[in-house]
Amino acid sequence: MTVRVRFAPSPTGFMHVGNARTALFNYLFARHNKGKLILRIEDTDIERHSEEAVNVIYEALKWMGIEWDEGPDVGGNYGPYRQSQRLDIYRQYINKLKEKGLVYECFCTQEELEAMRQEQLKKGEPPRYTGKCRNLIEEQKKKFLEEGRKPVLRFKVPEDRTIVFNDLIKGRISINSKQLGGDFVIVRSNGMPVYNFVVVIDDALMKITHVIRGEDHISNTPKQILLYEALGFKTPEFAHLPMILGKDRSKLSKRHGSTSVKEFKEKGYLSEAFTNFLALLGWYPKDGKEILSMEELIERFDIKDVNSAPAVFDTTKLNWMNQVY
Ligand code: GLU
Repeated sequence: MTVRVRFAPSPTGFMHVGNARTALFNYLFARHNKGKLILRIEDTDIERHSEEAVNVIYEALKWMGIEWDEGPDVGGNYGPYRQSQRLDIYRQYINKLKEKGLVYECFCTQEELEAMRQEQLKKGEPPRYTGKCRNLIEEQKKKFLEEGRKPVLRFKVPEDRTIVFNDLIKGRISINSKQLGGDFVIVRSNGMPVYNFVVVIDDALMKITHVIRGEDHISNTPKQILLYEALGFKTPEFAHLPMILGKDRSKLSKRHGSTSVKEFKEKGYLSEAFTNFLALLGWYPKDGKEILSMEELIERFDIKDVNSAPAVFDTTKLNWMNQVY
């Protein structure tokens, strides 16, 4: 089996150190296993995405020495895949789910959803979509459309299913479908498919073998597994990277100083030192060597040695590394 991984950033306008580490670990894993790395720009959130924001990602990857191996031809080079250019593909799979009767249109307004939520909270129940629109008849749908309501498309979550996966870093994770918040949205009312859906289509069609990403996505994984199954795709392996905390052990944020790749680059840090430092955020080589070139990192990198506990972002160490280089 050829290892195939991807780095799939959303173009938010800056490359956070957390994202940079995800890119690096995917790169090290691909190179160590003689596999392929794919870059995929997750830009279906049309309101937020800009070309400049995509360039920020390129610049950061280039500076860190991370190259990807595949993609559509752009002037003789590999361009990244862009989700905004793959909407026709997603539509085909939405239709498949429709044919299978696994999705339905939901016309609930934000106010109705909020009222549902408040009622559940009052009863001490966790908020979930009740499935109110699951069995609408054509006449009701027509009426809603006439009122000018635009439906979302929801995926029918099975009633009582245990979803289990063996995370390569976190170990065995098991969750019941009851805990997923009810039938979830896969297409917004503006017709755009959402992350949890497109990520599954892309990872399956791009034959991704290992999904390596931040642990903030663990709660999405069971929903994605249900979609893999619904579409008859093979589920990849998952590896969720530990959180990165500031020195005070709170979630890393601007409060802690520089958190984007660009800031470190502009402050004059050496890219080798920065990359070396990122690699040791949650991973440590067995031989204990700390100053490692990219080649040495590739040689030693093993996803099984990634720690499941949070990593601490301590720039004192980065400064030390920057001097050693
Ligand atoms: N676009 C998502 C993010 O930036 C990607 C998550 C994933 O790797 O599945 O968080």
